[in-house]
Parts: sequence; structure tokens; C-alpha cells
Amino acid sequence: MNRKYHYSNNSKAELATCHDDLQIVFNEVIKVTNVDLIIVNGNRSIQEQQDMYAQGRTKPGAIITNVDGVNDIGKHNELPAKAVDICCYVNGKASWEIKHLCYLGGVVMSTANRLYEEGKIKHRIRWGGNWDGDGEIISDQNLVDGPHYEIID
Ligand SMILES: [Zn+2]
Repeated sequence: MNRKYHYSNNSKAELATCHDDLQIVFNEVIKVTNVDLIIVNGNRSIQEQQDMYAQGRTKPGAIITNVDGVNDIGKHNELPAKAVDICCYVNGKASWEIKHLCYLGGVVMSTANRLYEEGKIKHRIRWGGNWDGDGEIISDQNLVDGPHYEIID
């Protein structure tokens, strides 16, 4: 079944803060995916970055970023953002389950590689579930960031 998904206004607003290449990729991904998705975060302010860095260190929760927003400014902190975080939307709610994120990782990377080879985007894209781009995903990563995609400068 060929299901058609559409971004919510919130997803569109987040995607609009991203680099043109990320916008092109994710406007194509939404046409070809069989799992719906949510654009959670494009650009982040320095304050938001510092708050995220505190999680798992000085605040409760798991560590979700190694970018401190003080000495280290990340691709989410640029405007337009060179990074975007995506989760899936399954059975009426957001899903951060690794099986959904890995499905999406395959769709995004194949779409991005095709668009790059067709000359429609200027940069290659990297996925946080496979930073080194080798044949192993998730298990050989220092920090698994399954929702994260970024532009390689
Ligand atoms: Zn991210």
C-alpha cells in the first residue's frame, strides 16, 4: 500500500530552520516513507543546547548530546541548522524505538545519496545511527543518536 504522509505545521516550522539540503531531503523522504515521521528539532538556541547537555550530567535523564554549547557549538546551533532530529509517528504517537528509527535511517540515507548523485543537493548527509558510514549500524557507535541527521561540510 502506498501511504501518503504530510508534515504537521510544527514539523514544517522546524524543517524551515534547516539548511536547504536537509529541506530537500526531508521533503522527498515524506513522499517515499512507509512510516510516518515528525521533525522534532532543527535549529536550537545556545541556551537550549546547554539545557540538553545538562541532561544526564547535572540534570536527570540519559546523556543525549556531547555538544556543550559553550566550548563546542553544534550543527543544530547554526542558522540555518546543519542538523535535524526526527522521530517516527506510529499508532498515533511519537516513537523513538530503535526499530522505527533504523527503518527511517535507511530511507533517509538512500534518498539523500540519490539526491546527491543527481546533483539536487550539494552536501552528503550523515546519520547518527551510523556516524562512520560503514556496514554496521548502532552497535559500533560511540554515541548512538538515532533521530539525528546532519550535513557533512
Ligand atoms: Zn540532533
